[in-house]
Amino acid sequence: TFELSKRALNITPSATLVISGKAKEMKASGIDVIGLGAGEPDFNTPDYILDAAKAAMDNGETKYTAVGGIIELKQAIVDKLAIDNGLTYTTNQVIVTTGAKNAIYTLCQAVLNAGDEVIIPAPYWVSYTEMVKLAEGVPVIIEGKQEQQFKVTAAEIEAAITPKTRALFINSPSNPTGTVYSREELQAIAEVAVKHQIMVISDEIYEKLIFGEAEHISIASLGDEIKQLTMIINGVSKSHAMTGWRIGYAVGDAQVIKAMTELNGHATSNPTSIAQYAALGAYTGDQTAISVMKEAFGKRLDTIYPQITAIPGFKVDKPSGAFYLFIEVSEAAKQTGFDSVDAFATALLEEAHVAVIPGSGFGTPNYIRISYATSLELLEEAVKRMKNFVISKQ
Ligand code: PLP
Repeated sequence: TFELSKRALNITPSATLVISGKAKEMKASGIDVIGLGAGEPDFNTPDYILDAAKAAMDNGETKYTAVGGIIELKQAIVDKLAIDNGLTYTTNQVIVTTGAKNAIYTLCQAVLNAGDEVIIPAPYWVSYTEMVKLAEGVPVIIEGKQEQQFKVTAAEIEAAITPKTRALFINSPSNPTGTVYSREELQAIAEVAVKHQIMVISDEIYEKLIFGEAEHISIASLGDEIKQLTMIINGVSKSHAMTGWRIGYAVGDAQVIKAMTELNGHATSNPTSIAQYAALGAYTGDQTAISVMKEAFGKRLDTIYPQITAIPGFKVDKPSGAFYLFIEVSEAAKQTGFDSVDAFATALLEEAHVAVIPGSGFGTPNYIRISYATSLELLEEAVKRMKNFVISKQ
């Protein structure tokens, strides 16, 4: 047997993957499980993107590319930032990575030293804390309250800043809550970041999934000073139903981008050439398919939101973005005889055959996250099962 590194032993396994693994096992044994755990669109990658990938293969684009991505894709990302976000960058400020996840991982490796603090608002995407720890940084968690739609305020952030603070994560729209920060809220946060000169890691991967009145604002667009401090993370995984292609990117300070590129030069090398051409097609082609998917998500949210809140003990405000509902279920768990939400979530899977993700993995143990990136028919059946389960146990 081998001794594992302290680094490996120090990792908290992804809560999302643990439940999905168990759900998959149950499905394989013939049990009709409805999975509401997945963090990915259920739609197929649109045809025009598949065509771009096929053309790349036919054209022999199957070799190594530049580590940081093909120049055409970098340029398409620069153009996208100008059109969608009103931001001006040059291609040397862009690195294309193996998914947005690799962009954040490599960024942490490039800028953090041992003991550097990184402020992470909770509930947070499960990987932020682990990626900070893997770079020997120290996650500093501040909790967004449900009464404030899980948003942290500029004052709360400022109170958490110490001489060791290097960076702050902002994830709007948020996984797991679907919360979207307003321009004014981001403006106040930007002022604090500028005052203390800390980097803002702005994870905008759910940018295209915004419903109702809400508007996506990139914090980098709120002035030159904050732009210089912001590293934008984005990609095609959620916007273009391309999770499996593994294309994401980071944009910002050219020196940081260069360091990240050198790091990836020894880690991943370039992201898959064919997937880069697919992403290029995704950004330069007709975006109609994107709005069709977004509308489908919006319709699902409108349909299941009232059904979810009708389950006794399920408390959730209607979110404005992403494709998740983050539901307070501590009452429901208690009333059905469970002493923790983790145990309640396990029972939902084992007895009601609905897979949900317990909030403990996101730093908030009284909640469950459900994803509505699945068909309306299955969603409604899952809600019915959860409701019957809760009522039958009360
Ligand atoms: N950031 C957030 C908030 C996410 O939810 C995810 C995926 O679940 C990612 C980043 C990673 O995206 P990718 O699949 O492109 O690595």
